Amino acid sequence: MRQSQLFTKTSREAPKDEQALNAKLLMRAGFVHKNSAGVYSFLPLGWRVLSKIADIVREEMAAIGGQEIFLPVLVDKRYYKATGRANVDITFEAKGKSHDTGEFIIGWSHEEVLTEIASRFVFSFKDLPFAAYQIQTKARAEPRAKSGLLRGREFVMKDLYSFHASKEDLLRYYEEVKKAYFKIFKRCGLETIYTLASGGVFTMSNTHEFQVVAPLGEDTIYVCQKCKYAENKEVSKIRGISKCPKCSGQIQEKRSIEVGNIFPLGEKYSKAFDLRFTDKKGEKKYVVMGSYGIGLSRTMGAVVEVHHDQEGIIWPKEIAPFGAHLILLGEESKVKEVSESLYGSLKKHGVEVLYDDREQKTVGEKFADADLIGIPWRIVISERTLQKDCAELKKRNDKKVKLVKIKNVQQTI
Ligand code: ATP
Ligand code: MG
Repeated sequence: MRQSQLFTKTSREAPKDEQALNAKLLMRAGFVHKNSAGVYSFLPLGWRVLSKIADIVREEMAAIGGQEIFLPVLVDKRYYKATGRANVDITFEAKGKSHDTGEFIIGWSHEEVLTEIASRFVFSFKDLPFAAYQIQTKARAEPRAKSGLLRGREFVMKDLYSFHASKEDLLRYYEEVKKAYFKIFKRCGLETIYTLASGGVFTMSNTHEFQVVAPLGEDTIYVCQKCKYAENKEVSKIRGISKCPKCSGQIQEKRSIEVGNIFPLGEKYSKAFDLRFTDKKGEKKYVVMGSYGIGLSRTMGAVVEVHHDQEGIIWPKEIAPFGAHLILLGEESKVKEVSESLYGSLKKHGVEVLYDDREQKTVGEKFADADLIGIPWRIVISERTLQKDCAELKKRNDKKVKLVKIKNVQQTI
């Protein structure tokens, strides 16, 4: 894409009413716009990143048999009433004008909705197991929506639900999801720590969170430095202990960001919606369920919290808005000609390029924008580089620049 056509612009100053580092950088670079506290719009660059995270999630969900669906945003109150979740603090209610007598809650998690749907299709053990997921905006009236994309009043979530004939089968699948989650976060450039947590409003048993260590994270976890066993603050029994009970490694307290959470739900929801099946012996049994969430927008915020420097964002390769940032410097016609042709040929070979073809911008401004936006490769074409028939290449997370022959640029990146 030509940067001269991009309708957003970068800004030098940090937004005044924003404290969170992720939001400051994302807003300055033009990835997101803040509409209200905890409510953000995704602009072209930001939407590209979010879509790439969604692509990764879809690939890894497909790899574990997840079937994609799309459930309602307006969730009839009766669903949450059935499980006693209609009045939880985070509820956003939606009411129409007088002619619409429906009572809705803007969906904040969809266990109830999908369990009822499943009850229309599941009759026998032969109908199990299966798993379905969606990627959708959720709304939650969060008391402290001050952390940018990390805690929105609305946010983009992937929620997966699985249905099984036995607890053993649920636990087998739980392990598969766990592995898929590690892959997803790794591909997004995040190392995650598998952390024991409580069930909250979902389930009575323990659950597991995927935590990213970050100095400005809202959560506190206790992690063994040797085996990485971890517990969150709410459930921790290793808090205050210096040696890990499992491997005698050292326990440390860390601030962290919860990017994913998986829940062995058991029979809570299948009981509420009478979701039963006939087993091999002909007996009626309740379906055993699990649910598994990832905050896609929170993941994007977490990446920025972890991968940045003084100058701006440093996007991991797989989720960067573009693979390369091609920068044209100067007015000379030869420079323009070579840049245009390189832009065309990179695109033709499948490289996603943001092409800074803007006139009236100084070298300093173009470089500052490139650093702020944070695309993995910077390719500069100027009169000076063309004297050697070269472009100057630099990785965003590297200080070194190198001259590469124009014809070898594509191969190098
Ligand atoms: P938290 O403990 O941070 O409030 P949660 O445990 O209530 O989150 P879940 O219901 O498990 O969240 O949601 C699944 C995932 O959705 C979380 O792991 C997180 O990545 C994301 N998420 C939850 N709440 C928010 C929010 N307000 N803003 C952005 N992402 C969120
Ligand atoms: Mg959670």
